[in-house]
Amino acid sequence: MGRLIVGNWKMNGMRQESRRWLGALKARLADPVPGVEVVICPPFTSLADAAEELRGSVLQLGAQDTHWESRGAYTGSISAEMLAEVGCRYVIIGHSERRRYDAETDEIVARKLQACWRVGLHPILCVGESTPERKAGMTVRRLGAQVRLALCDPLTHGPVPVASLTVAYEPIWAIGTGLAAAPVDCAQGLEAISAELKRLWGAEAATRVALLYGGSVTAANCKGFWTEGGASGALVGGASLDPEAFSAIALAAGKVAR
Ligand code: PEP
Repeated sequence: MGRLIVGNWKMNGMRQESRRWLGALKARLADPVPGVEVVICPPFTSLADAAEELRGSVLQLGAQDTHWESRGAYTGSISAEMLAEVGCRYVIIGHSERRRYDAETDEIVARKLQACWRVGLHPILCVGESTPERKAGMTVRRLGAQVRLALCDPLTHGPVPVASLTVAYEPIWAIGTGLAAAPVDCAQGLEAISAELKRLWGAEAATRVALLYGGSVTAANCKGFWTEGGASGALVGGASLDPEAFSAIALAAGKVAR
């Protein structure tokens, strides 16, 4: 399993801007970074342009969300089938901003994971504790519950292809704040996630799930999450909007052996 560096542009990037950022990124990452897969997740409106722009490059395309149904009366939604058709390989699922602003529950997250697997997309499941949960010493319990509920939803009961799952530990207090977790906090969070995966599926299957860290990752702090923190990659928000900073993170990942 190599390293995975994922850029989440969130609600940023008008079409022209997106093409410009991708052009700059392609120029910086013209050659494959050994052992590293780099994914960009632009807003829905830029996906078709991005698919065209990234064709033949080493960069992969991802989306920031999907609906759980394939089609139907779900105004404003986009299905996993649509994302696959436009050229996505990855989808971010259960980001804390969606849980917070779009009332996304663990049950919805579970259904969205199943929708990804239905069409062969690779979901990146986001889990993380809030500041009050952290202060109350509930981090491990919270992460365990989020993982369990996302993967064992009683309504879906679908199969879980473990090799096609990535889990990102994203402490809410670290997202977009500039207050990245310390590598030791990252290691503890990933350990809690890993322990829950082992409980669900056993040790061998759990080791096949890639674990990322996300939350104020920069070119200056990224290495610590992979060395001391034990993450196999990063989910990058703010810094992914700067092609120079994001490519520096991807290149740094290629220098830290797995
Ligand atoms: C994110 O959006 O998943 C994220 C980690 O954002 P940032 O890097 O800006 O903290």
